[in-house]
Amino acid sequence: MYPFKAGSQYTRKDVFRIVGIDDPGGGSWYTGYTSHGDDHFIFCGVGTTGRTGHDYQNTFVGDELIWFGKSQSRLDQPSIQSLLNPNGHVYLFFREDNREAFTFAGLAQPKSYKDSSPVVVTWVFGGTDFNRPEVLPEEISDAESVTEGAKKTVTVNVYERDPNARRKCLKHWGTICVICNFNFELVFGALGRGFIHVHHLKPLAEVGEEYELDPISDLRPVCPNCHAMLHRKRPAISISELKALLKIDGSGRNLTNRQTV
Ligand SMILES: [Zn+2]
Ligand SMILES: [Zn+2]
Repeated sequence: MYPFKAGSQYTRKDVFRIVGIDDPGGGSWYTGYTSHGDDHFIFCGVGTTGRTGHDYQNTFVGDELIWFGKSQSRLDQPSIQSLLNPNGHVYLFFREDNREAFTFAGLAQPKSYKDSSPVVVTWVFGGTDFNRPEVLPEEISDAESVTEGAKKTVTVNVYERDPNARRKCLKHWGTICVICNFNFELVFGALGRGFIHVHHLKPLAEVGEEYELDPISDLRPVCPNCHAMLHRKRPAISISELKALLKIDGSGRNLTNRQTV
């Protein structure tokens, strides 16, 4: 077993050095997955929506990674079969943007797979604990959606789940719900630190193909309760409307007698 540490970052060069490959030769190390001896190595982008949300595919849902094989991949291909039933281990590296370094996610084991083309595998990682890109499995599921071009349906979640956009939004706005002021760290301590949903303000009807997300003006941190309430109507109701309806804030303060401004 190679001494990669889950959560640590490695460039491909680092990986070659650690695995003991002088010259990786051909391109197989650069096309997503390859094998070396009995072991397999996967390099993948995760949750990178690009500038307009178009390359969204591999996604962390909680601790599991939904992963797409190469576009022509099929379940009966030897390379896929040996990934799913390896003699050695599957080392999985991911990155959230186009930086050079990948994060080692851990030794991957297939939890389930889809017999589609490309093959879709849900990977789980044994015994590792570190901060993965924050993607929330319990996000609003029937959010509005638009069809971009003829082929792809995009839901508002694409923007709300983009880890880079989230990070920029939260860096600017903080991690306290802008509607009810709920603060997960205050209530749950270290466990709650950094936890919050992100809500996309623009109705998707106003989002055209040329749309470019601005994480600061288009996104706001909201707690899951307020987020669910925002999406209770379609299109979502506005933050100021919901604030006006709020009777009790996140610290239990009764707001029904407050002065409205
Ligand atoms: Zn809230
Ligand atoms: Zn939302």
